[in-house]
Amino acid sequence: MIWNPTKECMSRDQMHSLQSKRLQKLVTYVYHNVPFYRNKMQQMDVAPEDIQSIDDIVKLPFTTKQDLRDNYPYGLQAAPASEIVRVHASSGTTGNPTIVGYTRKDLAVWSEVMARCLTAYGVTRDDTFSVSYGYGLFTGGLGAHYGVENLGATVIPTSTGNTEKHIRLIRDLNISGIACTPSYALYLAESLEKMGLKREDISLRIGAFGAEPWTENMRKEIEERLGLKAYNLYGLSEIMGPGVSYECSEQNGSHICEDHFYPEIINPETLEQLPYGEQGELVFTTLTKEGLPLLRYRTKDLCTLMEGQCACGRTSVRMGRIVGRSDDMLIIRGINVFPSQVESVILEMQEFEPQYMLVVDRVNNLDTLQVQVEVRRDFFSDDIGRMLNMKKRLADRLKSVLSISADVKLMEPSSIERSQGKGKHVIDKRILK
Ligand code: ADP
Ligand code: ZN
Repeated sequence: MIWNPTKECMSRDQMHSLQSKRLQKLVTYVYHNVPFYRNKMQQMDVAPEDIQSIDDIVKLPFTTKQDLRDNYPYGLQAAPASEIVRVHASSGTTGNPTIVGYTRKDLAVWSEVMARCLTAYGVTRDDTFSVSYGYGLFTGGLGAHYGVENLGATVIPTSTGNTEKHIRLIRDLNISGIACTPSYALYLAESLEKMGLKREDISLRIGAFGAEPWTENMRKEIEERLGLKAYNLYGLSEIMGPGVSYECSEQNGSHICEDHFYPEIINPETLEQLPYGEQGELVFTTLTKEGLPLLRYRTKDLCTLMEGQCACGRTSVRMGRIVGRSDDMLIIRGINVFPSQVESVILEMQEFEPQYMLVVDRVNNLDTLQVQVEVRRDFFSDDIGRMLNMKKRLADRLKSVLSISADVKLMEPSSIERSQGKGKHVIDKRILK
């Protein structure tokens, strides 16, 4: 099923002209309503008339999270306060949070794109769907919530917390779909097992997971333990929230709602636009947003874009998995290391739980990396030889994948702190020194 075939399956030519028309309108709108953009464009000597087609986007300035912070709270907002009906804020661990205001039309677009995602996963009006992203300033909860309502399925706004009660509801209300972070999905699986329940005792069939990077191995693990089919859901608050892109049944990349969010891939150092197929930083321009429209917003997310019709019938550009964030990337002894690389190694080995922490430090001017990983209960033993062997195999495998050696620390089952929202996987002590 396709929620909006007109928009999701239009020819590339039609999409090009729709995007061109929308970009022209957007540029005129921000030029007249956002001094920040008018100044930037004047400095670059570009006027709204210079933008004739979507290909002219390269003439426009980029926007960064820092720009949003520098103009905190409402500096980049284009619509008057009287038109804003809701505000979300991105968590951001340091500095000012990013404030995002939505007009009524923005909220309608958001619930439309979320309904497209859910339909692609196979959710129908007959489903009962639990939204277990946090409700509140974070966009996950309310964003997914209104998508489910728009689609016409039954939404259960479980949010996070009280996992036992949540599991009872999943069982008693025959909840068939769930949206949450992959970290929380695992936590849910663990809690289910602790309560003595099996995946056969519940009837979850569809999971919409996102808000943090995850791997193919993580997908298998979650599907196996919860007995559902796991789909990717991508989004970020600055652009809208969840619903920017979604996987279809083919699961070969995530379809971008390109009629609203125009994607580009750039080289994060030179800022040059890269061709489809090359890995780089993902950049979005919000083609229809009124509250906080953004030109060429640098997401810091690293991935590739793919063109070409998908077997599902949709024609939109797809994005590959996020392989990491350029600012999540650790540089250890000069080598780029992404937590996701460690995750995929751990998940390849059956001895370990998908619970890990990278601890980076600097000793005598040399960077050190410790990988703490939880051993599964069935594999944890007093047999030192066996444990040492397990540790060595993981260390060898990490070395070959990361190109640097890591000190492996085997941890007892359930000793690493669980997350109900986005998982935390890095402690970088170098920052504190
Ligand atoms: P906050 O900034 O408060 O953490 P956001 O929801 O705005 O909250 O975070 C958006 C970021 O979350 C994205 O830029 C991306 O790094 C990550 N993210 C969201 N969905 C996915 C996904 N499906 N896969 C990988 N990363 C994701
Ligand atoms: Zn598809």
